[in-house]
Amino acid sequence: QTIFIPRETDANEQRVAASPDTVKRLVGFGFDVVVETGAGAGSRIIDEDFTKAGARIGKAADAAKADVVLKVRRPSEAELKGYKSGAAVLAIMDPYGNDAALAAMAKAGVTGFAMELMPRITRAQVMDVLSSQANLAGYQAVIDAAYEYDRALPMMMTAAGTVPAAKTFIMGVGVAGLQAIATARRLGAVVTATDVRPAVKEQVASLGAKFIAVEDEEFKQAETAGGYAKEMSKEYQAKQAALTADHIAKQDIVITTALIPGRPAPKLISAAMVASMRPGSVIVDLAVERGGNVDGAVPGKVVTTANGVKIVGHLNVPGRVAASASLLYAKNLFAFLETMIDKEAKALKINRDDELVKATMLTDGGAVVHPQFAKAAE
Ligand code: NAD
Repeated sequence: QTIFIPRETDANEQRVAASPDTVKRLVGFGFDVVVETGAGAGSRIIDEDFTKAGARIGKAADAAKADVVLKVRRPSEAELKGYKSGAAVLAIMDPYGNDAALAAMAKAGVTGFAMELMPRITRAQVMDVLSSQANLAGYQAVIDAAYEYDRALPMMMTAAGTVPAAKTFIMGVGVAGLQAIATARRLGAVVTATDVRPAVKEQVASLGAKFIAVEDEEFKQAETAGGYAKEMSKEYQAKQAALTADHIAKQDIVITTALIPGRPAPKLISAAMVASMRPGSVIVDLAVERGGNVDGAVPGKVVTTANGVKIVGHLNVPGRVAASASLLYAKNLFAFLETMIDKEAKALKINRDDELVKATMLTDGGAVVHPQFAKAAE
């Protein structure tokens, strides 16, 4: 059987869904692995690295022969036209609110797996693309903030005077937020953080940052069984805004990462809060692609407000550290794919009763099969 790794077609996508290491292992299982020429270029993996690992270098049209397609982004309709009916496609599918795209995938007859729906259970940790990519996004958000900031982050006591440490506030402390705290601390910033989930409090303290939050009854119930945040009530949001407003006004750097699965990102920073910050302050909105946490953030842009605050809204932040992101993403895909490989038969064998398959399979046999998204097929 053939596994195909295309070059991503989105102009803003530098990542690739395989690494020389994962290719080597798939070849070891007896698959014919074909990598589209230039697929790894954005991640500094050259064609020769893939051929050395046992792959053949091909072109986009080779997708037609593939039994498995490994991708970063959901295939476009044009790409789907080039796939064999029945092929398995593994990617970050961005399924919420994209019913038409899911229907197109069903119509193409492919068995599509949304890697971001992988359950967060111990067995699937190695397949968790949200974590592997969010961790790098959290790191890169601090690097981007430091780049836009026109002062130094650490306190420096020199003969010529003292540079104060940058005050940095991290809003939303999941995987990305934790790495943002750690990175900002490594650079010498003074770090505070907030979240709505109580479990975060201890994690923030263990990283040497100060935790600030409205800790009422709703806060105590804010974590879902899946480990994510619930959407908070209007009342809570008002209390949260009142608590954070003065704090934000005093910050040099604010990084927001707050998300709610399947919902628009919560608004955490109003235009008035942005206006309260000093000129030269920097806000990075990591949620900008999901509606944004910050009033005035523009996807794909660095905006400077009238009062001189920069709001950074870079797209695809993990893709800004593409070489690292691809390495981890490729490993996530490989780990999941491996569970579906019949090593005797040297072929894909999908167990539709497996909990990981059930959780991630979006389309199969011409239909949208995932219970959360099945209406898209109608
Ligand atoms: P996420 O990307 O969905 O959200 C980012 C953060 O924003 C979360 O911490 C969330 O609580 C926070 N948030 C949401 N609404 C907010 C609001 N109104 N104000 C402030 N903050 C708000 O979350 P994530 O990074 O995917 O992580 C969610 C949890 O899952 C974390 O506790 C993480 O450690 C855990 N996790 C567990 C496993 C596992 O057990 N295998 C793997 C990965 C992550």
